[in-house]
Amino acid sequence: MIEAKKKFGQNFLKDTTILSKIIQSMPRNERKLIEIGPGLGDLTQKLLEVKPLTAYEVDEDLCVYLRKTFAKTIDECKFTLVQTDVLKQFQKGSLSDEPYDLVANLPYYIATTIILEALEDQNCKSMTVMVQKEVAQKFVALPKTKEFTSLAILTQSIGNAALLFDVPPESFDPQPKVVSAVLKIDKQKEFIEGKFSGIFESNEQLQKFKRYLRASFQSPRKTWLRNISSEFDKAVVQEIMHDENLPITIRPHELSVLSHHLLFKKLRLNDARKRDNNTTESK
Ligand code: SAM
Repeated sequence: MIEAKKKFGQNFLKDTTILSKIIQSMPRNERKLIEIGPGLGDLTQKLLEVKPLTAYEVDEDLCVYLRKTFAKTIDECKFTLVQTDVLKQFQKGSLSDEPYDLVANLPYYIATTIILEALEDQNCKSMTVMVQKEVAQKFVALPKTKEFTSLAILTQSIGNAALLFDVPPESFDPQPKVVSAVLKIDKQKEFIEGKFSGIFESNEQLQKFKRYLRASFQSPRKTWLRNISSEFDKAVVQEIMHDENLPITIRPHELSVLSHHLLFKKLRLNDARKRDNNTTESK
């Protein structure tokens, strides 16, 4: 009998209706399939009925159990189990050397970090993941709501995010204290094809956009003008706001994803112009 370990966020999904709903929601294609945290293997079993699978599990006891339970599938090379901390794997690079879809009931204590890593992992093309409902809501939040932060903007700049359905605590053993939800993020076509979408022409641009977002939301209750002026020239920001008819009192969460893209592009353009002028002057 395997005891669930709190330190690894182990809440095993036992509800067969929910397991089927996750399987119905996952993408159907020829891509590789990856699971994080197979646990006792209930979701793993269902995923293996769809296609071969690679799974990352940190808990040694669970790995011993899974190797026994899935011995035949492992021998047939349909199931690859990697015993490691998945965050360490992300630090080394991608979870796979080829494009993949991620399907998982994530350990809640590191769910946000895992999703952020997977968002930036170029080989990850989609995620169908169970997380705490409150966390899922942050990724799908809409402008003008208090949940709309840099997390939602970054996610919605890279892909389409949707909260698919709720999952009550009774679906798990042991039961978590919170309601869960299945979140789906489909990366946009341009991102999928290796090129970054319009706004992110390179990884460098993506990192700069993340810096822009950090500055924009450094004090969410303060105005966007005040926040962003820590990173960009205030007079230039004011000029751009004037051109775009934006009130100077606007707060970062009141601007749509597209407005943030536009403002970021204009500020970068201005920086580039300034650099060009400086180079010409110094010649
Ligand atoms: N997939 C199983 C299910 O649906 O019943 C278990 C899900 S349980 C919420 C989270 C799983 O992630 C556990 O098996 C846990 O051991 C594993 N886990 C926790 N931290 C991990 C990490 N850093 N790397 C890989 N797996 C981890």
